[in-house]
Amino acid sequence: MTGRVLVLGGTGEARRLAAALVADGVDVVSSLAGRVAEPALPPGAVRIGGFGGVDGLVAWLRAEGAAAVVDATHPFAAGMTAAAAEAAAVTGTPLLRLQRPGWSAGPGDDWRRVGSQAEAAAAVTGFGSVFVTTGRQGLAAFAGVPGHCLVRSVDAPEPPLPRRVTVVLARGPFSVEEELELMRAHAVDVVVTKDSGGPMTAAKLTAARELRLPVVLVRRPALPLGVPVVATVGEARDWIRSRAI
Ligand code: NAP
Repeated sequence: MTGRVLVLGGTGEARRLAAALVADGVDVVSSLAGRVAEPALPPGAVRIGGFGGVDGLVAWLRAEGAAAVVDATHPFAAGMTAAAAEAAAVTGTPLLRLQRPGWSAGPGDDWRRVGSQAEAAAAVTGFGSVFVTTGRQGLAAFAGVPGHCLVRSVDAPEPPLPRRVTVVLARGPFSVEEELELMRAHAVDVVVTKDSGGPMTAAKLTAARELRLPVVLVRRPALPLGVPVVATVGEARDWIRSRAI
């Protein structure tokens, strides 16, 4: 064990990686943004809150003598991912991106891929009851949607909200049955989601398939160039092991 590993977290993968590294005897610190009131905490040391941009992260990496960074943030946490790439380059700290694959449509799916939440809002203009599952951030994009919006998020969203809105506060994972019940109760006729990938939030896609509803998927932001990417916790663990950390 020769150095401290920073895991940029906020995902199930990050928590599982921290657990694996703790089990391997690695000195790991998980970092959370502090957005969620009661976050699920990983094993090992945890720090909470932003670093203060690239400069703050550079200072943190130097002060802690970080041996490596694994960016296991959510596929849509593009700001943190970009800052990690820059700070790693400045300090010469090895950086790995751990990102689960996106979802793939199956037979019978009517998926419409768009580039942003604003494009998603435009794509649902003709629908009467829109299930918005993209979380509390970026809801402003849906402010002008004429249909009724069912918004689900972990913590209460702040305005601006859609004009006609029902907010459901809930933390996944949800079962297909729960998703079917919710969608039927609100007579949902289109589902909006980010292409987050992974099994934890995929039940809504199965439910949409069963109800023959179209799904508007927001594409992932591009990854920084030159940063190695792995899709699984096991590969990230191997990467740390291979560096003899
Ligand atoms: P973001 O837009 O990429 O990041 C904005 C700022 O939040 C960053 O510049 C950084 O502040 C701080 N930050 C983000 N992740 C951090 C982390 N792991 N540790 C310390 N500071 C962090 O991020 P976001 O989309 O708001 O996501 C915030 C957190 O929620 C992330 O941990 C992400 O994994 C998780 N999450 C995001 C989504 C999503 O859809 N975006 C979904 C599920 C979970 P400073 O500039 O001050 O360093």
